[in-house]
Amino acid sequence: MKYCDYCVMPDTRPGIKFSKDKNGKNICSACVNHQNKENIDYEARFKELEKLCDKYRRMNGKCEYDCAIAVSGGKDSHFQVHIMKEKLGMNPILFSVEDNFTMTEAGKKNLKNISEEFGCHLISLKPDIKTQKKVMLKTFEKYGKPTWFIDRLIYSYPFAMALKFNTPLLVYGENISYEYGGNDNVETPDASGIFLNGVASDLDINEFIDDEIKEENLQLFFDPQKDDIGNLHPIYLSYFVKWNSYSNYVFAKNRGFSDLNGEWDRKHCAENFDQVDSIAYLIHPWMKYPKFGHAMASDYAARFIRYGLLSRDEAVKIVKQKDHNLDNKCIEDFCDFLGISKSKFWSIVEKHYNKELFYKNEFGEYKLKNEIQ
Ligand SMILES: [Zn+2]
Repeated sequence: MKYCDYCVMPDTRPGIKFSKDKNGKNICSACVNHQNKENIDYEARFKELEKLCDKYRRMNGKCEYDCAIAVSGGKDSHFQVHIMKEKLGMNPILFSVEDNFTMTEAGKKNLKNISEEFGCHLISLKPDIKTQKKVMLKTFEKYGKPTWFIDRLIYSYPFAMALKFNTPLLVYGENISYEYGGNDNVETPDASGIFLNGVASDLDINEFIDDEIKEENLQLFFDPQKDDIGNLHPIYLSYFVKWNSYSNYVFAKNRGFSDLNGEWDRKHCAENFDQVDSIAYLIHPWMKYPKFGHAMASDYAARFIRYGLLSRDEAVKIVKQKDHNLDNKCIEDFCDFLGISKSKFWSIVEKHYNKELFYKNEFGEYKLKNEIQ
């Protein structure tokens, strides 16, 4: 396990590539891509986006939606809707997937705020809880991916709905593999490859079909790699505008977005504004810790370094203090939802600890063999 000398990302992040810079330092592909943004003409790219919108604006005539936006209600969603509706004059319809976990107060307010602030209809899917629970337990036990069912829908539901509503344009936020390191590390405006980013790509849905889970329960699991997307044009907004999670947060806050300030100080996170909607969901991003030796605090500490908001030394301290320290509130909400005990939870987590990366100390705690310095 080696770490990027610029940020705090280890080479165990799936799909991330490491190279040497001209001074012989290790640098990760996310840092390289971030540095390369300086050479990108975003004005020209925004003009490309304007042209694309000119092609589709009001083209549906009677069917008034000319653009669909996949949203969560978060900071990035606020920014996406602002760009498409207020800057580009499109008439978007918003599609979101709720995860059925306990929502935070901030999460409840944000979903309402995005509709009220920008004046958009929002269609939100509350997935089939019976199937969700069954698939969750399976994917948690077998792959350490408890929210795979939800993550898959977050990508696929907007596709399925954009096709039903016949909106020609479908807008996603950032290409996470390109921005933060991952398998689909190619900069492209075309978001039809969004399923390849590792979050929801690598499991075969047929695996979950059994006596209890029927194909009909997995109806909205549309896959643009295999299924016909017709004339639908899916795009990453991050290709056309310079993407920055922190400036999106500052923007959203000025437009009524609520962070978790005063509500919940999450023990394993380096910020209070990302993935704030619900509680149990955070088990999913934390599971990267036992599997790959880094989790949400590393993700944001790395971004803060790239954005010039933290020094690497400051970020290393945060990573060491927070990354492993999964917030108890998440575990409780997760176990309540799934109907499992905390000891069952930890016995499943135990199975996913990567023994090549971790050892157990004299107290029985897992510690990284090669902790970041
Ligand atoms: Zn890096």
